[in-house]
Amino acid sequence: MAHPAEPAPGAVPTSSVAAAVWELDLVTGALHWSGGMHRIAGSDPATTRPSMQWWTSLVVPADRARVRAWLLVVREGRRGSEEQFDLVGADGVLRRVHAWTEVEVDATGEATRLFGSAVDISAASAVGHRDPLTDLGTRHAVVAHLRSEADDARRQRVPGGAVLAVLDLDRFSVLDDALGRDTGDALLVATADRLRTAAPQGATVARLDGDSFAVVVGRDTALAALASGAHHRPGAGPDADGLAERLLAALRRPTRLPGRTEHVTLTASVGLVTTDGTEVDPEDLLRRAGLALRRAKRDGGDRVVHYAPGLGEAALHRVATETMLRSALDAERLRVLYQPVIDMRSGEVVGVEALARVIDPERGPISPALFVDVAEETGLVVRLDEWVLGRASTMAQQWSPPTSGAPTTIALPDTPPHPGLPTVAVNMSSKTLQRPDLAGLVRGALQRSGSDPSRLLVEITEHSLLDQGEGARDTLDGLTDLGVSVGIDDFGTGWSALSYLSALDLAFMKVDRAFVSRLGIDASASAVVQAVIDLAHAHHLTVIAEGIETEEQARMLIAMGCDHGQGYWFGRPTPEEELDDAIRAWHSRARAARFGAWALEPAAPPPRAAGSPAAALVAPRALSLRP
Ligand code: C2E
Ligand code: MG
Ligand code: MG
Repeated sequence: MAHPAEPAPGAVPTSSVAAAVWELDLVTGALHWSGGMHRIAGSDPATTRPSMQWWTSLVVPADRARVRAWLLVVREGRRGSEEQFDLVGADGVLRRVHAWTEVEVDATGEATRLFGSAVDISAASAVGHRDPLTDLGTRHAVVAHLRSEADDARRQRVPGGAVLAVLDLDRFSVLDDALGRDTGDALLVATADRLRTAAPQGATVARLDGDSFAVVVGRDTALAALASGAHHRPGAGPDADGLAERLLAALRRPTRLPGRTEHVTLTASVGLVTTDGTEVDPEDLLRRAGLALRRAKRDGGDRVVHYAPGLGEAALHRVATETMLRSALDAERLRVLYQPVIDMRSGEVVGVEALARVIDPERGPISPALFVDVAEETGLVVRLDEWVLGRASTMAQQWSPPTSGAPTTIALPDTPPHPGLPTVAVNMSSKTLQRPDLAGLVRGALQRSGSDPSRLLVEITEHSLLDQGEGARDTLDGLTDLGVSVGIDDFGTGWSALSYLSALDLAFMKVDRAFVSRLGIDASASAVVQAVIDLAHAHHLTVIAEGIETEEQARMLIAMGCDHGQGYWFGRPTPEEELDDAIRAWHSRARAARFGAWALEPAAPPPRAAGSPAAALVAPRALSLRP
């Protein structure tokens, strides 16, 4: 490269000189800096006394040793040369610098003077930015690499074949909040190191923002991988899956927390795009990788998703869903349906589960199952949960189920005494559980409605419990301290083990419909459900079976010792105003099926003449003990 601003030997640059030049007298140790040097160093000439030590300390850690060695080599080798490096100025700005250094020697060959110049090339260099925390490249580096891959492909008329992987750490914000910013930063630095080491040589590794990173592997790298004997099909471009697997495997190794004895295992979601031509703009590739990444997140994280055109449509659908949800919440186009929960032994209604519906003007009521991911992602679920909580608390205060008139509810020898008060269960999403004011929110709803806290149950899925991480216990304690019962919903769909759950103060557990629906079809389903019921009982949890649709399922569950049940066979989710009628309809079905307490009622006697002694005999047992 040309030498644009080399000072004439012997000249003494001063701080008024605009060019960035400097001079170090090796005999006296005096250092002179021009104003241009201060501009590059982001320092104030009036207050800063530069030293070589200070100047090289501005250089980013990744380049610092190289720059110091370079200066030493110039001095000892008596030969000038040039270097490029990044520095973070005293003003905190990251700059890419191109610098020249020359050496002057006296008649004996002794070095007497070092002098040099520097140019800020950040603006001209697309990769002239580094992430100050991790010392990785930034988004600019990714765009520049992708652009040069596309240019190469165009020039050589060979398909591009570069791979872009965008990674985002799973549940990082929970760790960051729980462990503090400094630990969070240290984890990001550790992640950066792992990725840097795992990525093939020549790859660009960058931090895009927060906990999201990108790796670009070009076509040449693929060829290098081939030469080194790595698994690779010739002409296939870089092995995208292999790359993603390598990156994830590097992250999965446990990371020691700074200043602590504990380790954490980080997982990440990855969105992958493989370019196969020159037509795609780098920004568009980043957008596509982002779509794939979001899908990987939504599918539970710790996975890799390749971009496919359908992902764009899915994203559009999500935006439409968000708009619908937001306007329904703003206009309170919402309602709650209540589904009865039955005591399996007595057949009595012991409570209800509150199930939200959002009313779309065109499509009518919509179950959260259809929009729960959008609601979670946008945080709108928090508003939904709050609204349902208010309604459900009022319901818990006002409502008691119609009595069944069953022959007896207390004469069953091993039925525990009925707690009497019906309960109302609400579903709470992970986002709502993360609210710092959760306990206050629930207390407020209970106070406004005047409801007894013991009548309110909170259902939490296994997934959202895991989302709480270390804070799960505090979250649950905040609720149980109010007198509210908390239980696990959809048990069996997450990854929790009951032994793990038993460390928390839980009151009940709902066995997911997926297990119940297999009863009677598949013999192993009974064994699984039986094991779950027994384990839950060993941990003193009430077991509620979900999605009971047939009498056969109900009877099998009773035989297994299941405590409570819920499902279409007992009653569908119903508006509040129709709930009592729905429960009465259940009572008459229970009577006909001789279910629960009705099972005690003897079969209708054979028709005899009225007033016969046999009719008198059965009469006392048919007496209801309830009003
Ligand atoms: P969930 O809490 O497991 O609720 C049970 C779901 O199973 C309900 O679906 C219910 O209608 C359905 N179901 C009940 N019995 C049967 C049956 O016998 N057969 C079949 N096939 N299905 C049955 P729904 O109301 O569509 O709610 C779906 C999910 O949406 C709920 O699953 C819950 O996770 C979530 N959800 C509902 N309301 C709320 C809410 O207010 N907040 C939050 N965060 N989530 C909610
Ligand atoms: Mg539920
Ligand atoms: Mg459930």
